[in-house]
Amino acid sequence: MEGDYIARRLEISGIVQGVGFRPFVYRLAAETGIKGEVANTSSGVSVIIEGGRCEIDSFCSSILHGPPLAQITGMSIHNETVKGYDSFCIAGSRKNSDRSTLISPDISVCGDCIREMSNPDDRRHNYPFINCTNCGPRYSIIADLPYDRPNTSMKGFRMCNECQKEFDDPANRRFHAQPNACPRCGPGIKLYDNNSEVPGDAIEAAASLLKKGHIIALKGIGGFHLAVDAENSRAVMLLRQRKHREERPFALMSYSLKDIQRFAFATPEGEALLKSAQRPVVILEKRNPNSIAQGVSPSNNTLGVMLPYTPLHYLLLRHGFTALVMTSANISNEPIVISNEEAFKRLAGIADYFLVHDRDIYNRSDDSVIRPVAGAARFIRRSRGYVPTPVFLRQDVPRMLACGAELKNTFCLTKGNKAFLSQHIGDLENAPTYDFFTSSIEQMKKLLDITPDIIVCDQHPNYLSSTYAQSQQGIRKVHVQHHHAHIVSCMAENTLEGKIIGLAFDGLGYGTDGAMWGGEVLIADERSFIRKAHLAYAPMPGGAVAIREPWRMAISYLYRTFGRDLFGLDLPLLKEIDEKRLNIIIQTITNKVNTPNTSSLGRLFDGIAAIIGLRNTVSYEGQAAMELETICKDTRESYDYKWSNGETFNVLLEPIISGVVQDVTKGADPSIISRKFHNTLITLFTEICEEVRTETGLNRVAMSGGVFQNAIILKGLIQALSEKGFHVFTHRLVPTNDGGICLGQAVIAAQMHWDR
Ligand SMILES: [Zn+2]
Ligand SMILES: [Zn+2]
Ligand SMILES: [Zn+2]
Repeated sequence: MEGDYIARRLEISGIVQGVGFRPFVYRLAAETGIKGEVANTSSGVSVIIEGGRCEIDSFCSSILHGPPLAQITGMSIHNETVKGYDSFCIAGSRKNSDRSTLISPDISVCGDCIREMSNPDDRRHNYPFINCTNCGPRYSIIADLPYDRPNTSMKGFRMCNECQKEFDDPANRRFHAQPNACPRCGPGIKLYDNNSEVPGDAIEAAASLLKKGHIIALKGIGGFHLAVDAENSRAVMLLRQRKHREERPFALMSYSLKDIQRFAFATPEGEALLKSAQRPVVILEKRNPNSIAQGVSPSNNTLGVMLPYTPLHYLLLRHGFTALVMTSANISNEPIVISNEEAFKRLAGIADYFLVHDRDIYNRSDDSVIRPVAGAARFIRRSRGYVPTPVFLRQDVPRMLACGAELKNTFCLTKGNKAFLSQHIGDLENAPTYDFFTSSIEQMKKLLDITPDIIVCDQHPNYLSSTYAQSQQGIRKVHVQHHHAHIVSCMAENTLEGKIIGLAFDGLGYGTDGAMWGGEVLIADERSFIRKAHLAYAPMPGGAVAIREPWRMAISYLYRTFGRDLFGLDLPLLKEIDEKRLNIIIQTITNKVNTPNTSSLGRLFDGIAAIIGLRNTVSYEGQAAMELETICKDTRESYDYKWSNGETFNVLLEPIISGVVQDVTKGADPSIISRKFHNTLITLFTEICEEVRTETGLNRVAMSGGVFQNAIILKGLIQALSEKGFHVFTHRLVPTNDGGICLGQAVIAAQMHWDR
């Protein structure tokens, strides 16, 4: 019937360019007999379709499924007059088409490419750089927009005729796949020792060297990894020694889920994350006993594991490894190494061999790390595979740059209702990391076409990110309190507005009174906050040194609770530290020399760990807290707690400390003491929330801060608060640690801007 032949125009936005969207639409049109055209536009993809009403309807619903890498954030349907197209075609990009569309993150090699790579008759058999529009590098190889080959690190590789044919064919899986390549025309791989190239098949040779216990520096998507056979204890220890004996767990990579299940428990959520196209490192519970070297993840009952995400990983791991250690190749907390020259120079003392290739990495990004807890994925680090996918805000905000915090730094650029968080930058404590921070800001401003009108930073005067913000000329500056930013970050990703109870628990953040906060109950909205409750202040003898030396916090809490009677306590800690040193610390406390006050919950975890004899020093922040969580055994018991009422509740530490000391003196199991401590915090803060609810009528609780990486605290508080009828909001899109703070900074600054 004539009247049923209609025309529509679809405007689609989101990640719809560089992900095979047009060929997908082309094939969909062919299947449904729809006529018309599809084109990239400045805001996404525009499709004109003509056909029967039924076909049009089914086309419109099918298009929403998109190709695997697309992320559709909006689609509007408009009536058009029938023009009488006689076929469906892919129209040329409209002017300036790629400027404001979203860039796809790097995506793991797809099933189709793996099948081709394994097929001896395929021209890309065993080719480590096979990719298509559904997979491969994206963000890591882009230098500028538009996303065309000359603007990527593929610019030096001229496609052969066969590759070009695929690239030009709308029906082909490689239509406009910018990194398209084959062994004839694309990047290649080489193995070097410390002097020269190793002859023969590079991957075969690398595999056999790994089997012999050698350390290999391996170039990946976002940077170099250092790889060793994870079952070879000697090799793992050697790697630790050469990387300066740090104790942080190493990440693992296994060929298949079946391999992973031999040494770790993959829950259904864990399995889904492992297999996702982003391929993060997933934190899983260890299966005991297992064949993985003890040194991979010492004093820890979890392992960080990922599945291969590049063709090269597959080719290497198929040589019968249960798992390889795949740890970021960097030196003492500096950024991950990305160029071959840098690798040869800087990793010479660590790696025995170098498996390198000639496709440059433009945008460095570490592996993302996720721990599935309480039915959701919890980011510990949001980087490769996720960046630069934006977080969508509940409303449009001004163009801003939010500089983040000092440790685990990420920054964020905003445009419209989108907040683009950067890849993991790291701890801004060394010059190379700070350079990475500033150069990434410039790079992302260019790639996202954002010139910020406002720059936001933490209130801490000595954060390098704050100093950077301060030094920028001709731009409005906004300072945001650390824990307010934490809570609003959680609100933002949950698209919440209005007042909320915020639990902000972390290591340290600069408070409005100059003290170091970190055990805070706020009443907050996007505009401002009231500090409703906090842990009582305790002196931090030696300042930042106390972070690396938890025993100092232990003495601080003990002195506060027992005064000089602490010398009479029967604690292992006090026997390990000589009396002279103890006296010096106590003097530091009483004289208030280099001893800031802190209400940090992270520091309390440290102090408890030292009091129960778990450890006196740490090699990275949060290590003591992690080990306290690890040793927990089930018990419902808890310690006494108390807070002083008033305008602001002051949570007293003495009842908890003396409870713990009493148990230690009695010889109680540290696993039970630790669990009792966890239980105490859960009950205590649930009760405080109830009290705040009675006072204010607020029934929503947002939880943020590094302490919520602790699964017992996170799960425990979600459960306890939910049982009391609270609506509990947590992080699922950005890290709960300082890696997520820039999001909250931006949203608060937007509010301040409007309020002016
Ligand atoms: Zn593919
Ligand atoms: Zn080719
Ligand atoms: Zn924090």
